[in-house]
Amino acid sequence: MRAEIICVGSELLLGDIADTNTQYLAQRLAALGIDLHFSTSVGDNLERLLDCLRRAMGRSDLILTTGGLGPTDDDLTREAIAALLHETPVVNEKLADELRRFFELRRMEMTPNNLKQASLIPSARAIPNRRGTAPGWCISTGTRHIIAMPGPPGELHRMWEEEIEPRLRRDAVIRSRTLKLFDISESRVDVLLKTLTPAANPTVAVYAKQDGIYVRITAKARNDEAAWTSIASIETQVRDILGGFIWGSDEETQESVIAALLRSHGLTLALGETITGGRLSALLTAVPGNEGWFLGSLIPVAHVHPLTAPALAEQVEELFKPDIALGVCGIRLAGEEPEMDEITIAIRDRRTGATRTTSHRMRRDRVRTLGAYYALHELRRPLD
Ligand code: AMP
Ligand code: MG
Repeated sequence: MRAEIICVGSELLLGDIADTNTQYLAQRLAALGIDLHFSTSVGDNLERLLDCLRRAMGRSDLILTTGGLGPTDDDLTREAIAALLHETPVVNEKLADELRRFFELRRMEMTPNNLKQASLIPSARAIPNRRGTAPGWCISTGTRHIIAMPGPPGELHRMWEEEIEPRLRRDAVIRSRTLKLFDISESRVDVLLKTLTPAANPTVAVYAKQDGIYVRITAKARNDEAAWTSIASIETQVRDILGGFIWGSDEETQESVIAALLRSHGLTLALGETITGGRLSALLTAVPGNEGWFLGSLIPVAHVHPLTAPALAEQVEELFKPDIALGVCGIRLAGEEPEMDEITIAIRDRRTGATRTTSHRMRRDRVRTLGAYYALHELRRPLD
């Protein structure tokens, strides 16, 4: 089944609101194994909306619309579907009664234009809306199915989950696993995985995020078990090729992985940071349960307290007495374009008395975030 989404509302095209309905529906369709081939946003304009619907009828089996079901003149989804199918909307008395009850219950006045929301064309069935006044429309014309849903996300989600999804035919499931890497470039990952990326199922996709490079393996299969089996065989190959760079998967973050390692080794941590300005402390203190292993941090201002990373790690150790003390400092490199910094990360281990120091160069405008992730990366390596 090929699906298509049409989001209706001029507010989307003016940039007033973000189109979260497409993201929501795309995720729900993917989990159901239904292929989504197109998604369009269109303003509150009858002619253009009709044009989108005609195009969708020519290429998609399942057409989902959101928005344009309100009571006002600029809500035109019902009118456009009626024009598409050469039918005329008429007020449905049962729907009109329900609508009147909705207003009575809330002691609100129902204005005449609300009646438009109680209209149907002969080939449409109303879909109950338990959170608002606009019922959805469901139309099946042989091979094509049109489902029109309200725009407000709360109304859409409830209608989709309670009324629509349980009735959809499921052809397959789509499942994904994401492996997360650090200290390797997107292009290098792409080159190393070039035997895997052209495959159609499972697909292997590489993309860059703030905390590293992600490799997403997606399989479409008859059921969960078959999907996870085919993902596992590709995952083994990816791990064989890139294993040393992989630090986690799926919902894991670098900081959650480090927290788990510190807990399992029974170690405590404290840190000092100048160049990252507290970003590293913010990441680590956001991990739930950090009071078990996190002892504190110093965030000195570099020009007031000129310190090297090993000296900062020593001060941290003296003050907090952790098992592991980390210091991260940086210097600005002169005359580089773009502007570059060099950060130094020092990690002192109180059990051995040893300090390990590493340096990395990066763009100045990324140093706070990327520097924090490099510090987490260096912290993780000896714990792995
Ligand atoms: P409607 O009256 O059915 O056109 O729905 C209008 C309301 O739904 C707007 O005020 C928006 O806040 C919300 N809405 C419409 N389309 C979307 C969308 N694609 N994503 C998120 N919210 C939306
Ligand atoms: Mg609207």
